[in-house]
Amino acid sequence: MPEKFDVIVVGAGVGGLSAAYKLAQEGLSVAVIERGDYPGAKNVMGGVFYRAMMDDLIPEFWREAPLQRPVVEQRFWLMDDQSVVTSGYKTQEWAREPYNCFTVFRGQFDQWFAGKCIEAGVLVINETVVEACIVENERVVGIRTGRPEGELYANVVVLADGVNSLLSKQLGFHAEWMPQQVALAVMEELQLPAGVIEERFNLDPGLGATIEIYGSATLGLVGTAFIYTNKEHISIGVGALLSQIREMKVRPYELLEALKKHPMVAPLVKGGKPVEYYAHLIPEGGYNSIPKLVGNGVVVVGDAAQLVNGIHREGSNLAMTSGRLAAEAIIQAHNTGEFTVRELSHYEDNLRNSFVIQDLKKYKNISHLLETNPRFLNEYIPATNMALHEMLTVDGVSKRKKQNLIIKHILKNSNLYALGKDIYKVWRAVK
Ligand SMILES: Cc1cc2nc3c(=O)[nH]c(=O)nc-3n(C[C@H](O)[C@H](O)[C@H](O)COP(=O)(O)OP(=O)(O)OC[C@H]3O[C@@H](n4cnc5c(N)ncnc54)[C@H](O)[C@@H]3O)c2cc1C
Repeated sequence: MPEKFDVIVVGAGVGGLSAAYKLAQEGLSVAVIERGDYPGAKNVMGGVFYRAMMDDLIPEFWREAPLQRPVVEQRFWLMDDQSVVTSGYKTQEWAREPYNCFTVFRGQFDQWFAGKCIEAGVLVINETVVEACIVENERVVGIRTGRPEGELYANVVVLADGVNSLLSKQLGFHAEWMPQQVALAVMEELQLPAGVIEERFNLDPGLGATIEIYGSATLGLVGTAFIYTNKEHISIGVGALLSQIREMKVRPYELLEALKKHPMVAPLVKGGKPVEYYAHLIPEGGYNSIPKLVGNGVVVVGDAAQLVNGIHREGSNLAMTSGRLAAEAIIQAHNTGEFTVRELSHYEDNLRNSFVIQDLKKYKNISHLLETNPRFLNEYIPATNMALHEMLTVDGVSKRKKQNLIIKHILKNSNLYALGKDIYKVWRAVK
C-alpha cells in the first residue's frame, strides 16, 4: 500500500516550509520533498528577510533563528559612471525588538526553519526530485519522485517548487515563462571583519544596512543592484530582466565585476574575499503573470506563483504569506473532507484580499513601462546626477544659468510635453 499523507509540499523554501509548519501545527500529516541535499542548499536570496510574516507563524523566532544583522538603514542610490545621488532612511526603532527585517543566509535559515517543521511533526525528505504530480480523474492525488517506488499520495499537494515550477507548468497552470517575466540575478558573498563592515557602513556593532542601486549598475537594463551587510560578509549582487540581458548580450557576471569596481562601491567592498557565488532567476512578471493558483487537490505558492514584488525587493515574505494562507485553506478543506477547487479557492480569495496580490496589482504596469521606455533609466537617472552635480559645484556660474543648462540637458532628446507625459506615466504606474 503506497504511503499517503494529508498534504505533500514540494520544495523546502520559505514558502513550502511556512505551509508545512502551519499544517503540522494543526495536526495534519505532512511530507516536504526537497531536491537539495538539505533545505536551503539550493536557495538564493540577497537576503533581506522580513520579520512580521515569520512572527505570524513562530512568534519571536528572532530570539533563536540564525540571523545576520537587523537592518536599521535602507539606502537608495541613483548611480551613473562617476557619482551617486543618495537617499535613504535610518531609525533606531529597527534596532530594537521586535525589529523590521534582518539579513539572513538562506542556507542556514531554511535549515533552521525545516528543523522547526520537523519538531512540529513534518517529515522532510531531502535529495529527492519530484518529477510529476499524479493526476487521477482530473484531480491531483500525489507525486512521483525520481526514486524507485517513489510515489507518494496526499489529499492536497502544495507546489512550492520555486521560480522554475516545472510541476505547475506540467499541470497546464502556466506556459513556459517568457524572458520578460523573469530576471536573472548574480551575487557574491564577500568576507570582511565585522568591525570593518561597521566602520564602512557607519553602523553600531551588530546592526545592518542595505543599499539598492539603480542606473549604471545595470547598464540601463530594467533591474537593480544591491549591497547588504551580514555579520562578516557583504552580499553584493545585480539582476536584470532576462529579455534585456539577452537582447543587449550582457553577461551578468560582468555587470557584477563592473559594480565592484565602481568608484562609489569599491571602497565599501575593498579587501572582501569572495567566498560564495550564486546565479538564480527571480520571477518578475508581477500581477499579470500570476498563474492558475488552485486545482483539484493542488495549490501553488511563493515564487512558483510569481509572487515577487521587485519594486520593494519583497519575495520571501510573499512566499511565506502565500504558504500560510494556502495552509489555512487546506485546514478548512480537511475539516469538510472536500479537496476540490471550490473548497481550496479560499486560498486564492484570501491571497487576493491580502497585501500580496494587492501590492502586485498596484505595480502591475511598472516593469513593462520601464522596459518599453528606456529613457527612464538611461536618461532621467543620469540627468538627476548631472543636475545635482551642476547645482552643488561652486564655479562662479549663476544658479539661473545652471538651471537652464540642466533643463537643456534633460530636454536634449525630448521636449517638455514628452517629459510631462513620462512623469504622468510613472505616476499612473505607481499610484
Ligand atoms: C539574488 C536574489 C536576491 C533576492 N533578494 C531578496 C530579498 O532581499 N528579500 C526577499 O524577500 N526576497 C528576495 N529574493 C526573492 C526570494 O529569494 C524568493 O522570493 C523566495 O526565496 C521564494 O521562496 P519559495 O519558497 O517560493 O521558493 P524557493 O526559496 O526558491 O524554494 C523552492 C524550493 O523548491 C525546491 N525544488 C524545486 N523543484 C523541485 C522539485 N521538482 N522537487 C523537489 N524540490 C524542488 C528547491 O530546491 C527549493 O528548495 C531574492 C532572490 C534572488 C534570486
